[in-house]
Amino acid sequence: MRARQVLNLAYVFDFDDSIVTTDSKTHVYDKHSGDFLFSLTPKEFNSYQKKINHVLDTSDFVARDIILRAKPIKKWKKLINLDKKIANGHDNITLYILTARAPVTQKHIYDFLRSQGILNLSLGNIIAMGDGKGEIDVPSEKVKVLKRIQKESDIVVFYDDNEKNIKAAQSVGIDAMLVEEYIK
Ligand SMILES: [Mg+2]
Repeated sequence: MRARQVLNLAYVFDFDDSIVTTDSKTHVYDKHSGDFLFSLTPKEFNSYQKKINHVLDTSDFVARDIILRAKPIKKWKKLINLDKKIANGHDNITLYILTARAPVTQKHIYDFLRSQGILNLSLGNIIAMGDGKGEIDVPSEKVKVLKRIQKESDIVVFYDDNEKNIKAAQSVGIDAMLVEEYIK
């Protein structure tokens, strides 16, 4: 009798507004006067177009205390359920977090997840690929990482609340699903 083929499944979750919400905001200042102009939530930042006179303060996004106070939402339940499956022996499942936050947040996110009972997502699988300035092209940077994960897995499932990230991932054959506003 042949052993049933077990597929390696990678589940990749965006962080902000996909599995948690936080109080982090991007603060926008005028380059010349230094005046504060406005603040953007992560959701608002997804559709924000940076103007030439804008200087961004993204320090909220690396603040450990703000990350540790994150509130689980939306696809959090999915993450918890998968984590339980791994705990129960489904070792063909690998969990990832893929966020445009800066690399320094990797450990903060890890500590937050552990404090909430997520015990089977390794530190190295928290990929924080931001530059800390909000200047990278997030969809194409996320796709680069997803392609790397794709090489090591049979199926990659990706959840993100930003449609641009989802479309970019789908264009390279990733099973990408938009985390909608109304899904709690
Ligand atoms: Mg997001």
